[in-house]
Amino acid sequence: MMKDSQAIRESLIATARQMNIARINVNKSGNVSARVLNELGQEGFLITPTGIAYEALVPSDLVFIPLFAKDLSQAQGERIASSEWALHARVYERKGDVGAIVHTHSVYATALACQEMPIPAFHYMVATVGGKEIPCAPYCTFGTDALAMSAADALAEHKACLLSHHGVVATGNDLSAALRMAIEVENLAQCYCIARSLGEVPLLSDEEMALNIEKFKTYGVQK
Ligand SMILES: [Zn+2]
Repeated sequence: MMKDSQAIRESLIATARQMNIARINVNKSGNVSARVLNELGQEGFLITPTGIAYEALVPSDLVFIPLFAKDLSQAQGERIASSEWALHARVYERKGDVGAIVHTHSVYATALACQEMPIPAFHYMVATVGGKEIPCAPYCTFGTDALAMSAADALAEHKACLLSHHGVVATGNDLSAALRMAIEVENLAQCYCIARSLGEVPLLSDEEMALNIEKFKTYGVQK
């Protein structure tokens, strides 16, 4: 597992800034984290602090939080962690293969989340999340343990989910994969909103989506 280092901190900040370039972040509402071991060998994650614009972030602003932390008394750093730190913690605890998490309020995905609508199997790329739809987690108040559990449940079998009346959580093996997933969810959400505006959207069958999910398990793997 990746150790905490200047390089991973810089890469995390670069990922946060890429969210602005990709137009999936709104003001300071997004947050990014990456799983690391701290200098004592303790497993946890680095996360962006609350209330600091990404352009102004420096490596020492990131906060380390150990897995299974119940509050921020165990956090290590000069800043206060993102208010959604517990959501990141619960996902890393449940899913050992998740190396990074991106949370956004990107517009189209959030519009669907405000309708409490999952993104159904309208396009084959929906299968990149590992299921036949992108689920929408039930609403809970922001920054609460209830929201953290709701998101972790929705992500149990999927790499990304919507959060009702809130936004998106995307995961990946590493920072670039989590960012790509967040951008893909927003792109699919935008396509779905437009397709719906043209009329009822026909969906791919369960069999076809099962085939797509299998294909994505090996897609892009080089010799
Ligand atoms: Zn949020």
